[in-house]
Order: sequence, then C-alpha cells, then structure tokens
Amino acid sequence: MLRWHTLATWFRRRYGVRVQKIPLDAGATCPNRDGTLSHEGCLFCNDEGSGSGLGLRGLSLAAQWQRWHSKYTTTDPDRRFMAYLQSFSNTYGPVDRLRHLLTEIAALPGCMGVSVGTRPDCLDEERVALLASVPLPEVWLELGLQSAHDATLRRIRRGHDAAASARAVRMAADAGLLVCGHLMAGLPGEDYAEFAASVDWAVSLPLAGLKLHNVYVPRGTGLAALLARGAYQPLARDEYVDWLCGVLPRIPARMALHRIQADPAPGELEAPDWALDKRGIITDVRRALTARNLWQGCRADVPDARPEWFGG
Ligand code: SF4
Repeated sequence: MLRWHTLATWFRRRYGVRVQKIPLDAGATCPNRDGTLSHEGCLFCNDEGSGSGLGLRGLSLAAQWQRWHSKYTTTDPDRRFMAYLQSFSNTYGPVDRLRHLLTEIAALPGCMGVSVGTRPDCLDEERVALLASVPLPEVWLELGLQSAHDATLRRIRRGHDAAASARAVRMAADAGLLVCGHLMAGLPGEDYAEFAASVDWAVSLPLAGLKLHNVYVPRGTGLAALLARGAYQPLARDEYVDWLCGVLPRIPARMALHRIQADPAPGELEAPDWALDKRGIITDVRRALTARNLWQGCRADVPDARPEWFGG
C-alpha cells in the first residue's frame, strides 16, 4: 500500500497507463562549470553534471530515444514515453538552441511529454514561454532548488540564492508549466530542522511535484574532498528514513513525489554505500511510515486517512 503520491500514480491518474521517462543527453553545459559563474560547479557535481552518466554524448537525440524506446517497448508494448533532459542546465545557452531542442523532442516518435532539468537562474520569460508552447500533453520543468537557506547554497557553491529559486518556480507555474523542485537532505552544515524548513518553503511555492534526494558523495567532487578530510559525514540510512517520515506528512498529497531517494550513476559513488540500495530505501520508508501510521499529507491536506488513490 503506497503512502505517498508517486510519479507513477500521477501518470496513471492522468493517462491510465504507465509512462516511462527516457533520459536524453542534449550536450548541455552549466554556467556554474563553464566559468560564467564558476569553474568548480556545485560541491556535489561531477563531470556528468549531476546527470545520467549514460555516456551517450555524441549520439543525436533521436538515436538516443530510439535505443531506449526499443528496449522498453520490447518488455511492455503499452507503455508511453516522455523525454527527460537531466544532465547539466538544459535551458542555459542561446534561446535558439532550446527552441531547436524542443522542436526535435516534440517530433520524437511516440513521445507524449518532456521534462527539462535546469537551474533557477537559467530561466527567463522567453525560455519559459518556449517551454510552455511545446505541443505535448505533459511538460515538466525540473528545478534544482536544493535548499531554502542562502548560507547552505553558498556553502555548496550553487551560485544562486533561494529568492532566485522562488522567482523561477512562480514564473514557470504562471506560464502553465508543471514544476518539480529538487531538494537535498543531508547537505553540509544542515540538520533536520533546516531540511524540514526547506520542505515547508518548497510546498509554499506553486510546485506540482518534488524530488527528494539523500545527499551522496560522488567521486572526484568537492564533497568527496570534504569527506576525505573528515569535514563531511553523509546521513546514515536510518537517519534519512527518519527525516523522510518527518517531512512526508507535511507535503500536500496533490504534489507528486518524483523520487524520494538519490540515484547514483554506476561507478560514481564514494559514500555512503547504502545509497546504491534504491529499492531497499523505498521499502524502509514504506515500512517506517506504516509502523508510525503516517502518509504524505497527513499533517497537511489529508489528515483523516491515507488517500485510496495513492494506490497499492
Ligand atoms: S547546477 Fe547542476 S550541472 Fe551546474 S554545477 Fe550545479 S549540479 Fe553541476
């Protein structure tokens, strides 16, 4: 029995079928790595730009799409698909690049939507209008918010503040985009109270979805250097499960949780080992919520009972 509103449930309620996101690498970069803001990037960012690490650069979007599309339709011919631009900051750069990219995506065979990952400071009215004009039924903008606290954002070298995040979410939602905010639990210098305050801040914004990540340490990053000299300690598995049991009840049931755990790429994980056990973490959270009789929104918009439509 599900105790939170998963993305699979979101799609099932809207389309009645399973929808699979296909990760595409559009060759984007990021102002926080190309020298515009910094060359160092966020403390946790590696050469893959916090992306899929699928090594598909150089292949056209259509070729990448075809590869994944054929693989998934072999096992489930009824499944539907949307494109997911995850790596780096996909709205960064010339607006014509974004226009071409979106046109190409809208023409991919069998594509019913797109999800575009970017930074809050890489958006303006023109880019938002372009995204809102994509002729597909499902258009998401995924924004790395990470924290509501400017001191943390400086500590992790984000290069933007929380006000920029809030502005970007409002601008995109006003244009009709579905916006998913990413938040990280266990950022350097943050305790549970600060993470919970970030969640409360995020749910006060016009977000349709949230993605929650446990911070993990990718090899070769600034965070790995902190770890090596004992200046950073990732959350323990039980601690992360407790933190989620604390915040999920405060998140309104209408918000889809795109993910509740990080997704380290193969070979990039330095620590903690438990971050690789993605299914196990979900099971732990499910069991802990059940044992405590909690569910998403039980301290927000659905206090009386777990919504049946969460599914099983
Ligand atoms: S915004 Fe994303 S791509 Fe850019 S440095 Fe930070 S994590 Fe890396």
